[in-house]
Amino acid sequence: MLAMTASIPVIDPVVFGTQEEIQRIYQEEVDRAFKLAPEDKSIFQLRGDANTRAEELFKKAAELYDIPEYDIGALLWDLRDDRAGAATACRDGPPYEITMNEILFLRNYDDMMHQTIAHEVAHVVTCLRYPELTASADFQAHGPSWQAIIHDLGGQVSQFHNLDITPINLYHLRVDVALLTFIVENQ
Ligand SMILES: [Zn+2]
Repeated sequence: MLAMTASIPVIDPVVFGTQEEIQRIYQEEVDRAFKLAPEDKSIFQLRGDANTRAEELFKKAAELYDIPEYDIGALLWDLRDDRAGAATACRDGPPYEITMNEILFLRNYDDMMHQTIAHEVAHVVTCLRYPELTASADFQAHGPSWQAIIHDLGGQVSQFHNLDITPINLYHLRVDVALLTFIVENQ
């Protein structure tokens, strides 16, 4: 699920000597986002909620269509660009995976529980329901087949989210500063 605004440039973080610093910055931003999540739950419970929601939607899809109930396994949480979520492209799976943006999820729990997970589950269900169609090179990921499924699953028929991506921009700005500082100090 893409951001409504233009994508931010992402500097390749694979720079020697800065990996730990980048991870530290990321963890700080996750911790900051966690303060805005529903208060009574741990981060693992919140992640578990998302997994349960995805499982429920796969169950619903199996009831609606002539497909087996897909076991998505544990959702992944390492999406750091301005997308809210991402799913394995049909031609690259199975296995299919759903990757979530944890900073955005913690800050927008209700919205992402409802919309983003349905959006990404619908991508995987499209692969399962239309294996031949989705394998073709010119398959449109957000085309009519996906739109019908997201509609059936009760999500919004939109390619875009309108979440505030300022925290993501801040994370990348901090990473850029760390990288530039590293470069200057090692000249
Ligand atoms: Zn999508």
